Amino acid sequence: MSGLRDGVPEAHRALVRKVDAFERDVRSRRASDMACRSGCSACCRVQLTVCDVEAALVREGLAMLDADARTRLDARLDAEGAACVFLEGDGRCAVYASRPLVCRTQGLPLRYPTGTLPVEATLARGRGTGEPITWCPLNFTQASPGADDVLDAARVDAMLALSNREAGGHPERRTALADLAREERHAPTRPGGLDRR
Ligand code: SF4
Repeated sequence: MSGLRDGVPEAHRALVRKVDAFERDVRSRRASDMACRSGCSACCRVQLTVCDVEAALVREGLAMLDADARTRLDARLDAEGAACVFLEGDGRCAVYASRPLVCRTQGLPLRYPTGTLPVEATLARGRGTGEPITWCPLNFTQASPGADDVLDAARVDAMLALSNREAGGHPERRTALADLAREERHAPTRPGGLDRR
């Protein structure tokens, strides 16, 4: 287990709030260009891993699941599908309030350092501007994002690495979301006192 001794530090919660505020701001200014909505799961057909401080936040979300949500999560774990284990049948995220930063930023136009994105991606989505920017193809289909709409992904990554380090997380350890769900499944403190090991 890769838990942080003191749970999720306030500094990391502040980073999450900051990213969420940026996303809300873009969404309010560019409402007609943002297709992101509850139930859209186009960016959830993945198997993600997270660093220690994000794993601690996801554990918080897991701890708050009710019995029905846990039953559905168990079924998805058993099915071992290709989508994220937290993706509910109706397209919602089971741990939405605790989801990783990559999920919180996925619909936004993201700027990466030059050379880190495939040229095809920047040409297709950056409208040939040459800027290393990409975004969900469901968003900004009519008008390109403005400079204020673009999130510096490398900066967010750097702030997350700092947050993880300051929280005492291992600098390189990554934990699969499915493994966090399995870990919680076998927790002896699960409601009902059922130790499923
Ligand atoms: S954690 Fe939630 S938002 Fe992120 S990929 Fe999984 S289901 Fe989607």
